[in-house]
Amino acid sequence: MDTLIANVTLVTMNEKMETLFGAYLGITDGKIAYIGKTAPEDQPETIIDGTGMVAIPGLVNCHTHLPTAVLRNFLDDSSKAEALEQLLLRQSKIDERAGRAAIGLAIAECLRFGITSVSDLYYSPDVTAQVVADAGMKANIALAATRFVDDSEDFDFDTDPGCKMLADAVEKWHNYDHGRIKIDAGIHAEFTSNHQLWDALSAYAAEQGLGLQMHLAESAEEVADCEERTGLTQAELLNCHGVFRVPVTAASCAHLTETEQKLLGKAKASAVALPIAAAKQGYASTPITDCVKNGMNVALGTDSAVASGNLDLFEVMRFVALQARQAGGDSSVMPAVAPLMMATVCGARAQGRGDECGMLKEGMDADIVLVDFSAPHLMPCHNVVSGLVFSAKGGDVAMTMVRGKILYQNGQFPTLDLNAIVSDIMAYAIPKVMEKETV
Ligand SMILES: [Zn+2]
Repeated sequence: MDTLIANVTLVTMNEKMETLFGAYLGITDGKIAYIGKTAPEDQPETIIDGTGMVAIPGLVNCHTHLPTAVLRNFLDDSSKAEALEQLLLRQSKIDERAGRAAIGLAIAECLRFGITSVSDLYYSPDVTAQVVADAGMKANIALAATRFVDDSEDFDFDTDPGCKMLADAVEKWHNYDHGRIKIDAGIHAEFTSNHQLWDALSAYAAEQGLGLQMHLAESAEEVADCEERTGLTQAELLNCHGVFRVPVTAASCAHLTETEQKLLGKAKASAVALPIAAAKQGYASTPITDCVKNGMNVALGTDSAVASGNLDLFEVMRFVALQARQAGGDSSVMPAVAPLMMATVCGARAQGRGDECGMLKEGMDADIVLVDFSAPHLMPCHNVVSGLVFSAKGGDVAMTMVRGKILYQNGQFPTLDLNAIVSDIMAYAIPKVMEKETV
């Protein structure tokens, strides 16, 4: 046995939703090899004292755009239209070096807050994969394909720049390190692409066995515009082009009709609720209970650091429960275990990693987070799951581990040079991204 976490409270999120107190969790070759109330017979090489700690499965952030961390707090108080215009301009200036630094910073933030796996939708899958590979975390990385021309122009998958970049990323990175990195196909959104792209990408994803990430039904305007243009809702339209034949992770889904939810539920698609990013930007929230009732898997996401302010999924768990209770008018609406489940089990399922992580269970990858419950705001603890959702914050994470390897502990990031990353952000990325337009 390589590592033993001893005398810890285990919130397993397993099928029985067991919480074990004063428990032991052993790790061998990156996998959970032992869970029990007594110490295992095998002598571990390393013992981590779990006294006062709560161990949970690593959190899965199912929707973000890591490189835009460089724009955090830029135009937070501007209108949607103004912010979007500036965001697109600044994003276009994020070159490889700036992107690498911003991704490193965002990954450090994820690990600091107990996130062991992310689904990222952006334009530079190769750079993102390189940083994720070195950092040791897990990621499903998608290229946010767009196509702004109408279908009178010829389209060829092999020469389309986005499709070519996706195919190159698949060849180089898909299933890297025994599946630690997966490449997903990606569609930025219905209104930023056309059917030529949907046909080609869904066929390619099906052939390669990839998932597909996208934004869906985020604003009332895009939904109304699609219906007016085509006579179909967004999900119906995309379904005509085979998009949901592969496992789709759809961010937002705030404005899906019941018919669309059922269609996506049948297709085993996942909705990603982004409650904080949506609230911060003035968008509607995902109708989580309806989506679940209609068969959809619902996971949680922060969206980008610029959209939400930070990548703290603990805040998202708390906020989503608060919102549901306020809307439902009762404190029994959305029990605390629900957001924790969305952030672990359902997130892993959305990424196609349901057999590999999302629970603390023998045979699963040792993707484990220790939360320090000795702080005043976490005592006393009458219910540990409630404590995790309603009282804990990302900053209470004491250790984050992926496949048995510690990636964050006590302020240290063993796989990241945070000082070098921050220097590069300040000296290179910010001047580059914020440079004035020269006409
Ligand atoms: Zn997004």
